[in-house]
Amino acid sequence: MVELRIKKVWVDRKVEADDFTRQLLDRLAGRPVEVVDSAEPVRETVRLSSDPVGESKQHLFITAQPSFIRPCPCTPGCLGCGYWTIDLDLNCPFDCSYCILQDYLGLQPLTVAVNREQLRGELEEFIRQGRSGLIRLGTGELADSLALDGLTQNSAFLMDIFRGREKLWLELKSKSGWTQSLRLLAPAENVVLAWSLNPQVVIDYEEKGTASLEERLQAAAEAVRQGHRVGFHFDPIIHYQGWREDYAQVVESIFRRIPLEAIAWVSLGSLRFPPGLLSLARRRFPESQIYEHEFIRSAEGKYRYPRPLRQWLYKEMAGMFAEFGAEGRLYLCMESVEVWQEFLDKIKRGRRNFAFPFPWQC
Ligand code: SF4
Repeated sequence: MVELRIKKVWVDRKVEADDFTRQLLDRLAGRPVEVVDSAEPVRETVRLSSDPVGESKQHLFITAQPSFIRPCPCTPGCLGCGYWTIDLDLNCPFDCSYCILQDYLGLQPLTVAVNREQLRGELEEFIRQGRSGLIRLGTGELADSLALDGLTQNSAFLMDIFRGREKLWLELKSKSGWTQSLRLLAPAENVVLAWSLNPQVVIDYEEKGTASLEERLQAAAEAVRQGHRVGFHFDPIIHYQGWREDYAQVVESIFRRIPLEAIAWVSLGSLRFPPGLLSLARRRFPESQIYEHEFIRSAEGKYRYPRPLRQWLYKEMAGMFAEFGAEGRLYLCMESVEVWQEFLDKIKRGRRNFAFPFPWQC
């Protein structure tokens, strides 16, 4: 379990008597607890800190969510991959300098939803809506899927409700290492344990509190040994002097440990961020160099590397994977049609997940 530094636990009054709330409080014994009517008092407390975003990661709010499943918003003008997100937890105890949640969540504390049983019904309804093809869903959009798992054991809960639902694929995406909760998970055909990877030098400077590259790779290898399917995300790829050699080493280290057949997919995405993040991240991470680069403002308002640079990064990464016969596992995250077109010979179109690049999807 990631060592959680929780200064205080806040309980939403409407879930005070909930069984899962009581279990969480037992696991969090010793921390001060306050019952509140909403997240606002937590935000007010957090705002008093000299680093409100950092402070928000040390307060835990136990509540209920109105609903869990929503389509990944991707980015306007970009080709989506048909992903759906499950917002069981919000915010993350890790502290990456590029994390858009710093800006996006508006000081929402670490948030755990105790009404997760409602997700079963939502999935049933989701299936009844008659979507065709394989659908991917994951909990790693507004949180790290495993960072709070030692506390919530959501991975076991999710495995249980996804097992046997052939057309729905669950992804648990993380920057943690091998966890006690993963040790207990029985593999399922349609569940992918995925790790976000970067060279160790990027992890050291930009991904505070996360597991080392070696720990993540060992965790993935252990998952494969236990019969799980795994995935990897190179997102964001950071461009710096010497990036190519560093990323090539990471790719090589994957295939030293993990057979191609065990890898479900690998995503590539380059550094991008909304304007609001820039001043916030520069203030919070004065030692970070990643914002000292040339960016363009794209049509949807985000800053990105210029398109020729992005295309070159993806081409080089594809070459690294091709050395291991794995280029067919790659897809791009939040990229334009033009960049996709250059990346693939042709865009393979399925009915919904039209950008999803795997033969079994199209
Ligand atoms: S691990 Fe993911 S969710 Fe957590 S701080 Fe880093 S980028 Fe954000």
